[in-house]
Amino acid sequence: MPRFYSIRFRLTATFLAIILAVMLIISLFLYNTLERYHMNNLLEHLERSGQLASEFLVGHMRGQIDTVRLSSLAENISRQAGSRVVFVDDEGVVVGDSVRVGGLLNQSLEQRDVHAALDGEVSSSTAYSERLDNQIIQMAIPVRDEGDAVIGAIFLSTSLEAVEQTLSDIRLFLFLATVLTMVVVGGGSIALARRFTNPLEELTVAARKMSEGKLDQHIKFRSHDEIGRLAEQFNIMAKRLNYYTNNLKKFAADVAHEVRTPLTTMSLLIKSLKEYDMEPEEQKEFVDDIDSELDRLVALVNDLLELSKLEKNQIKYEVVDMNALISDMSKENQLRFARSGLDLIADVADKSLKVNAVPMQLRQVIANLLDNALNYTAPGGKVIVHLYQEGTEVIVKVEDTGRGIPEEDMAYIFERFYRVDKDRSREYGGTGLGLAIVSEIITAHAGRVWVESEEGKGSCFYFALPAFEEE
Ligand code: ADP
Repeated sequence: MPRFYSIRFRLTATFLAIILAVMLIISLFLYNTLERYHMNNLLEHLERSGQLASEFLVGHMRGQIDTVRLSSLAENISRQAGSRVVFVDDEGVVVGDSVRVGGLLNQSLEQRDVHAALDGEVSSSTAYSERLDNQIIQMAIPVRDEGDAVIGAIFLSTSLEAVEQTLSDIRLFLFLATVLTMVVVGGGSIALARRFTNPLEELTVAARKMSEGKLDQHIKFRSHDEIGRLAEQFNIMAKRLNYYTNNLKKFAADVAHEVRTPLTTMSLLIKSLKEYDMEPEEQKEFVDDIDSELDRLVALVNDLLELSKLEKNQIKYEVVDMNALISDMSKENQLRFARSGLDLIADVADKSLKVNAVPMQLRQVIANLLDNALNYTAPGGKVIVHLYQEGTEVIVKVEDTGRGIPEEDMAYIFERFYRVDKDRSREYGGTGLGLAIVSEIITAHAGRVWVESEEGKGSCFYFALPAFEEE
């Protein structure tokens, strides 16, 4: 993998570049300030020493102090000030020097600073001293008589060695601080980047495995930040995909299984018809059997189509008046129920209850529940459809006095093709998909469906939908 393009590399490099830039700016500013501070200090010190020395030059110019004495005074001041002190008269000639041996006594001091001082200005500069083999700073201060005329100058110079040493210490300190900060920040950003990118790399590996068909992927994540949430969503997605894929395989196997039984039966019946001579009555019985097997197949295909339509989501929601719907459907089914010796009663609330739903789908739900009540209740029984509101939900309860459902089957009856009593279901042409369709429709409407039942006594099927409240 090209590491230069990795987030880890880019994050670390960016952090390091930012820190380097910040440290350089801070160092430059700090170094300049300190350098200026030290130089100014030194110049102030030189100027103060020069001012102190100026009265001796005045004394000399008045003839009160001779050159020998002036040089020894220069030597004293030089010791205290830590700098060389040279007295110059108004011609620029040295009349006193703190350096006795090899000094400049009686020589003309050709210095730019001295010329400036004799012109009345305090002047300073840095230069290289061969005698000290070092950089020096020098300053010339004009000395004036009472009439303010320049009568000479004091020239002071001192080595910059101490200042340079201090500045070099500061430079070293700033360099080490920069290196240390970069090591700490570099290490920190590598650790931080690793924390961010490790789960991303895990995600990439898991996604690649999924694309290779290994769908049961799960990523361990500790953090609950954006990446943690991404990993969490990935896990949910992988679980769903895995579930749907397995479900799809199971569904295909179930459908094949369901189709095989009527096809096998029909194939046997047709073969028998072809191979044996039969009485017309016997033949009719066989053909009737084929007919009912075909009906079963058609019912199965219709239910499958219904399920696939639900998944397409091409649906239009409307406000449905539940009171009217239940009353209508109860009326429509009266005759059918009466023929089976059953009472069908609609117990509808006085208050008009409305839901936001796809009307055709709601009819399908109620029809499926009524069909089941009809098919699993013995003649003489009763089926009541209740409609009422509880909190924010509109509830429909289909109650029958039928055979009921064994406790251990109740959790599964909403699954596709699940039947408690396969023979009973087959007998009346059930497909095992009726309740699965009910569950899918109600779930798609943001509702809930459940069952209460007691074996031998009867069942109550419920579904609840959010009540539609008019503004
Ligand atoms: P089927 O086409 O077999 O009726 P359903 O999905 O509608 O399929 O129902 C699943 C199973 O639940 C049925 O086979 C039946 O065993 C049971 N069942 C459904 N409704 C009732 C009921 N009202 N009373 C008793 N059993 C029921």
